[in-house]
Amino acid sequence: MEVIQLGATPPPATPTRMVITAHPDDSEFTVAGTTALWVRDGYHVIYVICTDGSRGSNEPDMPPERLIPIRRAEQCEAASVLGVQTVIFLNHEDGTLEPTLQLRRELTGLIRSYRPDIVVCGDPTRYFNRNVYVNHPDHRAAGEAALYAIFPSACTRFLFRELLDEGLEPHKVHEIYLSGTLEPDTFVDITDTVDLKVRALQAHRSQVPPETVEARIRDWAGELGRKYGVAFAEEYRRIILR
Ligand SMILES: [Zn+2]
Repeated sequence: MEVIQLGATPPPATPTRMVITAHPDDSEFTVAGTTALWVRDGYHVIYVICTDGSRGSNEPDMPPERLIPIRRAEQCEAASVLGVQTVIFLNHEDGTLEPTLQLRRELTGLIRSYRPDIVVCGDPTRYFNRNVYVNHPDHRAAGEAALYAIFPSACTRFLFRELLDEGLEPHKVHEIYLSGTLEPDTFVDITDTVDLKVRALQAHRSQVPPETVEARIRDWAGELGRKYGVAFAEEYRRIILR
């Protein structure tokens, strides 16, 4: 695990929010407008990226060992644009992520350590996107591990008992925002931060041609905006844990 501190570490009283994804760039595609708003509102936002992003190129001259540091740097640049203060790379191998107990334990430790009130993760029940895209198995694996880290693992004292020995007391997350879901019921108006979302995604130069980003994002976020009666939006399924 690698913890990159882009801003100050959160003082104990600062409220925190966490975004758990599979790959560098996932959060820029899905939730960056929301995270930029949270930063503006005074939250300390933590990105947790489960894989090393190493398989994100089919170019013969871009083997995994060359791509890893490039994607890490791109993710940190994107986070800086948004004001996200902490980026944590778990560095599992890209492409073969599984929702193992080890991954769940790692995420549980991070949730207990940073104590977010809201955690964002991908909807693990989504296999397809319209009829043109198979959801990447890493996205589903990260989403499932994140959900079960939130509940029951983070809030149940003697689950992963060894975490107690590290001083990590149980923590109850209040809300889960599922991104990439087929059953959205909540939107966030990102009109004020859509430009930051564009600039953040443009940092992922190894994944998307920067010159095409603006039109794509304005198109997608604009389509969601029309659905909810605002200029630009991101949408979620919101789970409120009682
Ligand atoms: Zn991805």
